[in-house]
Amino acid sequence: MSDLTQPATALSGVGEALAVKLARLRVESVADLLFHLPLRYQDRTRITPIATLRAGHEAVIEGEVAASDVVRGRRRSLLVRLKDGSGILSLRFFHFSPAQQQQFQPGVRVRCFGEARAGATGLELYHPEYRLLKAGDTPVDDHLTPIYPTTEGLHQARLRGLIGQALEKLDAAPAALPDWISQPLRERFRLPELHSSLHYLHEPPPDADLARLADGRHPAQRRLALEELLAHQLSLRQVRLRIQADGAPVLPSGRGLQARFVTQLPFALTGAQRRVLDEIAHDLERPVPMLRLVQGDVGSGKTVVAAMAALQAIAGGCQAAMMAPTEILAEQHFRTFRDWLAPLGIEVAWLAGKLKGKARLDTKAAILDGRAQMVVGTHALFQGDVHFQRLGLAIVDEQHRFGVHQRLALREKGEAGGLTPHQLVMTATPIPRTLAMSAYADLDVSVIDELPPGRTPVQTVAVPDERRPEVVARIRQACAAGRQAYWVCTLIEESEVLQCQAAEATRDSLAEALPELAIGLVHGRMKATEKAEVMAAFKQGELDLLVATTVIEVGVDVPNASLMIIENPERLGLSQLHQLRGRVGRGATESFCVLLYHPPLSAHSRERLAVMRETTDGFRIAEKDLELRGPGEVLGTRQTGLAQMKIADLERDRDLLDQVSPLAKALLEEAPEASQPLIRRWLGEEAGRYGQV
Ligand code: ADP
Ligand code: MG
Repeated sequence: MSDLTQPATALSGVGEALAVKLARLRVESVADLLFHLPLRYQDRTRITPIATLRAGHEAVIEGEVAASDVVRGRRRSLLVRLKDGSGILSLRFFHFSPAQQQQFQPGVRVRCFGEARAGATGLELYHPEYRLLKAGDTPVDDHLTPIYPTTEGLHQARLRGLIGQALEKLDAAPAALPDWISQPLRERFRLPELHSSLHYLHEPPPDADLARLADGRHPAQRRLALEELLAHQLSLRQVRLRIQADGAPVLPSGRGLQARFVTQLPFALTGAQRRVLDEIAHDLERPVPMLRLVQGDVGSGKTVVAAMAALQAIAGGCQAAMMAPTEILAEQHFRTFRDWLAPLGIEVAWLAGKLKGKARLDTKAAILDGRAQMVVGTHALFQGDVHFQRLGLAIVDEQHRFGVHQRLALREKGEAGGLTPHQLVMTATPIPRTLAMSAYADLDVSVIDELPPGRTPVQTVAVPDERRPEVVARIRQACAAGRQAYWVCTLIEESEVLQCQAAEATRDSLAEALPELAIGLVHGRMKATEKAEVMAAFKQGELDLLVATTVIEVGVDVPNASLMIIENPERLGLSQLHQLRGRVGRGATESFCVLLYHPPLSAHSRERLAVMRETTDGFRIAEKDLELRGPGEVLGTRQTGLAQMKIADLERDRDLLDQVSPLAKALLEEAPEASQPLIRRWLGEEAGRYGQV
């Protein structure tokens, strides 16, 4: 009886050493081999007449040795002239043994495979695979030859042999690998069957459409890609179900605290903010943990939405926590929340990794006994040694740096309350809809699609760095008019040290050019407290110009800053540029962003800078970014798990995304028992376990 979940060592000829190599390809079991798909194919099913061969083509050639010589050109080589009646070409070997040289006697018949190149003697095959033919016909291959992704020390032929064994096991016991997408579902979604798809991809027939296979758009490939996307979506849904199987505190809305807070704000909430707040308020009133993503472009006013949600939790007798991805941002949120909530008599605490000693113990004690009603911090907040008395709401700013695991870990933080906290995640990176569906299938989405009134869109210009003096003059002017400015130094080397040195050098040269200005510097290697001091000074207007590395990318809010210079913007992704630029244009004055590039620009860079000049719409920028860089880069690969897809490619398979949700829904209705095995097949045992309640 064949069991495909057996380790690969169950196959003949696979020992520990080979198993280690296979593990590098993420192949552990026999079934994994079946899902290890070819990168491309070679056609060795027909013999190509030499006369029709073209340079650059791979082909099987069969002919008779006409002559064989060792020649001395720039490099010594064995040159074998081969004729087949239609023409003549040369096989060239730079490395060869005397025995090999002996083989190629005139008149011997040879079949070889290789890529033709235009060489010194006409068409040549360098180091072709070859075989001497004996009397009688040796048949050519009856299917295309798959070329697999492999690893050092594991040859194609070996890998092919192993996959052949796995296919035989599959044929011997087809039930060992069930097609979890049932026949009726396959018909409805027009998908081929699993086993025939796998056979097709490992052993395509000679008439297979190679171009389509090469593009990854063959129905067999698309079926597997869709199955993988389906598994990812099912897994996210499962996380959601698991969290929502728990109880959450019921937090009534509309209590006095929120109303008092709103009247104390110097502005009125926008319609979009109010709508999103209604959605949140409604979620918090239910005894089921909220799982909601608030998407809002930079400057759309997400912080005040977070504060309102926190107040609903606090009014309901719970604690609220807000986690930010960087210390700078956490510090800023802490100040904002303290300014907003302290007048309402609410205790706001601050916790980051850098908080040490007695201060840390005191804060932890206040979180534990419930004195700290609102806690702001970095990921340090959700680590094992921090215990809440009764956490009702966890807010995560900048969602894309926070993954499914952390989301699950939050379940434990309700602590003594015995209930799972509501979760609100906020992102300024607009996630294109198609991606939102697969990456965030476990979250409900609210969109703040309106900026506060009175904002003038940031004017963006691209200027070559030889015009730096003009840019400096512009800073002088802006600061003389009472405005503030940022100068952002981007990564010049792949080293933080060098980057920080570069930022220091820039600060020095700007200080020389602009002696009348107060100039500050923040970079990644400064202590958190130092960074916080500089940021605070800038915010309070004590500094005119802030020189910074991209540490200020997210969330920093200084409305009086109206000019930003970004040096070498061509090094950054569009979404990152958009984030940075979002630091200005937050007040009512007209703001400017100068992209100070280093010519010459590649066509690609020119296109990207043009996008930045033409639009301030974060959604369009994200779409464009996705198009230019792909989803792994845009979303950050690690936490999303997107880059770990084996077969699906979110860009190429974009059109499949529309089918994922309906298919998941149909599957859960018609065959819910298929969900778990599908998740295990594609995401592994660990992901399978997320689902166990
Ligand atoms: P983001 O969505 O990028 O996090 P913030 O929450 O930092 O944006 O808000 C940007 C700025 O807009 C802040 O100075 C904030 O006080 C202000 N703001 C937020 N909501 C409004 C509003 N409804 N009207 C006017 N200003 C607002
Ligand atoms: Mg923000």
